[in-house]
Amino acid sequence: MQARPRGGVSGARGPQLRRGWLALAIAAGCSGSVDSRPPNSTAVPEATVIAAVSVSESTVIAAEPVSGPETTAIAATREQVAELPAPALPVAPPPDDRTPRLRDACVAGDTITIAAVGDLLLHEELQIQAYAAPDNFFAVWGGVRDLLAQADLSYANLEGTTAAGLDRKGQAVRDPGRVFDRRVYSSYPRFNYHPSLLDDLVASGFDVVSTANNHALDREPAGVDATIAALDRVKLAHTGTRARGTQGPWHALTRARGITVAWLACAEHTNQIPDPEGQVLRCYEPEGALEQQVRALIAEPSIDAVIVTPHWGKEYKPEPARAQRELAARLAAAGATAVIGSHPHVLQPWEVLPGAAGRDTLVIYSLGNFASHQPELPRRSSLLLYLGLTRPPGQKARVHGVRYVPLHVRQTGLQFFVEAVDRVGGPADSRALTVAMFGEAAVLAPDAPLATRPACP
Ligand SMILES: [Zn+2]
Repeated sequence: MQARPRGGVSGARGPQLRRGWLALAIAAGCSGSVDSRPPNSTAVPEATVIAAVSVSESTVIAAEPVSGPETTAIAATREQVAELPAPALPVAPPPDDRTPRLRDACVAGDTITIAAVGDLLLHEELQIQAYAAPDNFFAVWGGVRDLLAQADLSYANLEGTTAAGLDRKGQAVRDPGRVFDRRVYSSYPRFNYHPSLLDDLVASGFDVVSTANNHALDREPAGVDATIAALDRVKLAHTGTRARGTQGPWHALTRARGITVAWLACAEHTNQIPDPEGQVLRCYEPEGALEQQVRALIAEPSIDAVIVTPHWGKEYKPEPARAQRELAARLAAAGATAVIGSHPHVLQPWEVLPGAAGRDTLVIYSLGNFASHQPELPRRSSLLLYLGLTRPPGQKARVHGVRYVPLHVRQTGLQFFVEAVDRVGGPADSRALTVAMFGEAAVLAPDAPLATRPACP
């Protein structure tokens, strides 16, 4: 087992997709030394096989050194610190009354930063634009690609299927290629995207997506299978659905800077499309089952953090429903590190809830639409969330801070562009709407150094 780069302030971005890979690697006598992939690489082998995560993973992770460069620096004596130049760690500005207060903001340990965006809901116009463009979907979100890639891990909700050659009934038909033909590749009410979208997501720095949402079955059960196969082909980790006839885990594992995060997605419903094979993990049914999964995951010694990504709530409501709040509280109590919601197509607030074992749980109820054609201002206004985690030596990770970049979908003619509002001098009304909910102090200027740590004594 080779030592992995970890926790440093300048280490390479290095997520490792490990869905079922370690059990396989151990069975094959492999030491699991593949650690990081360079940005835009698709050459990570381990996401293709779905298998249960075994307890033996803890053996692999325990083989790693516990202390990283940051903990070493923090452990230096006061005299040593006095002699050293000031550390170059960028720190977040002082909080305001909208900034979540986190009890472990200043805890020492290894750190990672996670970027999260909301719904990829690619309506007709966006698909037509992308399929006709030489750079495909970068034509839509290329303007924020660097903001995603600078985090250690990036997440989005993939709202729709990527099922080549399937019509709305899930029947195999001739695939038209990158063409919005309304038969294979289609928009509301049943979304299906050309699988080249997934290559673009990987090249944009995305490491993990939710596939549990109300459009998961838009190409029937066969579409779930095809989407999972397409995701596995590009080595993009996914959570919340599974192929027919498989009993693999619902969660995905990512690894960056030596920290393993389990991702668990669920859907409140599937637009009344039947799910005869139980391929979509539900948020509320059976009652308590999701919370039980969280408890099992966080109890796993090899897992440092659990992030739940529920697709829930009422569309277009800027406040979470009571059911969302209650489930968030139960997920926090079960040990979730963070809960990152989507589905309402508008932003819903964040808050800190008391979690398990004295840790806080950061909840953001809805991230809004990342990319869509929904013309109303609240539906075009969203954010890129940066979540900072710290893992103290020998303990579970906890959230140390959050920042965000206000985003906006600009429409020019029939073209759509995801933009960082502050980068392009974007619409003041969109920015005001977002900042009113999340505060000014947590805004990260798009060209500022990425910093989620607060200034600590
Ligand atoms: Zn939805």
